[in-house]
Amino acid sequence: MPIKNIAGKIIGVIQLVNKMDNTAFNKNDENLFEAFAIFCGMGINNTSMYETAMKAIAKQRVALEVMSYHAIAPMEEAEKLEKMPVPSAQHYNLYDYNFSDFPLDDADTLKATIRMFMDLNLIDAFNINYELLCRFLLSVKKNYRNVTYHNWRHAFNVTQTMFCMLKTGQMLNILGDTERLALLVGCLCHDLDHRGTNNQFQMKTMSPLAELYSTSTMEHHHFDQCIMIISTKGSDILCNLTQADYEQVIGVLENAILSTDLALYFRYRGRFIDLTKRPDVDWSDDCNRDLLRSMMMTASDIAAIAKPWEVQKKVAEMVASEFFEQGDMEKETLKIQPMEMMDRDQKHKLPNMQVGFIDAICLPVYEAIARVSPRLSPLLKGCQQNRAHWLEEAEIKQEQQQQRRLEKHAGEEEAENKNKDSQESSTS
Ligand SMILES: [Zn+2]
Repeated sequence: MPIKNIAGKIIGVIQLVNKMDNTAFNKNDENLFEAFAIFCGMGINNTSMYETAMKAIAKQRVALEVMSYHAIAPMEEAEKLEKMPVPSAQHYNLYDYNFSDFPLDDADTLKATIRMFMDLNLIDAFNINYELLCRFLLSVKKNYRNVTYHNWRHAFNVTQTMFCMLKTGQMLNILGDTERLALLVGCLCHDLDHRGTNNQFQMKTMSPLAELYSTSTMEHHHFDQCIMIISTKGSDILCNLTQADYEQVIGVLENAILSTDLALYFRYRGRFIDLTKRPDVDWSDDCNRDLLRSMMMTASDIAAIAKPWEVQKKVAEMVASEFFEQGDMEKETLKIQPMEMMDRDQKHKLPNMQVGFIDAICLPVYEAIARVSPRLSPLLKGCQQNRAHWLEEAEIKQEQQQQRRLEKHAGEEEAENKNKDSQESSTS
């Protein structure tokens, strides 16, 4: 009698020899035996599936070990960074919402980040080993891909905005030690291993990441990468924390990174806006603080929209070109029409789309946080100024379009007239 698996493939055979009462096997015995064979099949199937799963887990562990070894920056680099003097926050303009990373080289971005850890008193408060911190930062930088926008520079700028909100915006009056550590690390790590494509793209291409996480796909991955770096020896900057502090930091960190998914921002911002309109809002309440931290993450993540116009314009073009690259892949590989924002052919609509982005996403969050602390209002002002600039750009673009249409029309008319003339001359 064959033993089959679920797919009907024969995975074994069983044989019965001689009944004990010496009678012949009958149809009834056969049916009973067939049922028994089905149970055998399920047993064998489970065992071999278990073996395969165990092997897959072991393989995954080996892969993770190899990956985390290569993900961590070399010791020599950390030793070099450790010896470099770290200029002041004023030198780098870190207390200013108008800060831009454009004039800085890569070493400066690392030193400026160390300065933020120093000035938030995190190194002393959490007994962070300085060499570990250097290696951690180098490792974080290493785990950003060389994509057009969502790269190390973006993470660095987001971190500076958070620093500025904490210091210049005086949010330290509300948030405690573990929160400021988690928020700073959260900003640094919030887009780790970004591939320049969004959550919808992971779903459309059925990427393994989308299979792993059906919602906030990329954000879960950024958090996983962050945990990988934090828990690898040599870059484990939280190793001197007490168990209770460690757990608290990781909890806040996870929420902070996940909250950079704009889908979650839309879900929670109504509650936050209501909260900021209350005169007696209690920021010692855990739920309220959680909301506040999430909104601060969003405010930092999109802060390029509040930068001086020249910076904003350049960054908006970078974001757009990363979007267009995704749009190109959607057209070529997936054979689908990308959304307007990602369609290179709709490039002329960028100024209008920026105004839409500001109205739908940016202004509400900056208005709300400006109510929490008036010292956060420069972000709102910067955003409003850029809105005016984009409106102006939109008008210019519209005029250019109209001009082009008129020229095209005139050109066509001229060609038609020429055509008529030559026809007339050939007939005469
Ligand atoms: Zn981001």
